[in-house]
Amino acid sequence: MDRILTCECGYEHIVSPSQAGRQIDCPCGKKLEVPSLRELRALPAAEQAVPAAVTESVWRTWRGPTMATAVAVFLICGGMSLRFLMQRMSIDTSYTEETEIQLGNELFDQYGPDALSMVWEDYQTYGIGPKQRPPFLRLREIARQRSILAGVTGGIALLALAGAFGVWLSARRLLRQRTAA
Ligand SMILES: [Zn+2]
Repeated sequence: MDRILTCECGYEHIVSPSQAGRQIDCPCGKKLEVPSLRELRALPAAEQAVPAAVTESVWRTWRGPTMATAVAVFLICGGMSLRFLMQRMSIDTSYTEETEIQLGNELFDQYGPDALSMVWEDYQTYGIGPKQRPPFLRLREIARQRSILAGVTGGIALLALAGAFGVWLSARRLLRQRTAA
């Protein structure tokens, strides 16, 4: 069985029993001595040696469906999060109360005394009109909602990704145990 021989630099070499006692070159420049057959057996087994049937048996338990679900949730929620984020980005929230007031002031500045008195008379006769919510307030609310939705779906996607990683780790550990046995 192939074994993993780790160099001082951290590089993992996969060595076969036929290489026992020989020297191999590491990318770091060091020459590595492959141990004798007896010592070689004490090294960790290389994962390449895992038979397909063992791999299959590990995934055919709860791990397979759980992994599939986690990946699906990650893709769906991740996609939704991106969509909400793009909707949020497409909304311009630079228009604020200050902008509204400033624009109103600039407008009145352009009015002459005659125009101003006409506006004033209109207000006295008809009032200032029905109360209306400025559109920029509504836009800001939508932007806030999209941010929250993007955050929640993004969080779910990250949780699913972490779950998938956990399942993968557990499968890898089990595969190592079965191969070592
Ligand atoms: Zn090395």
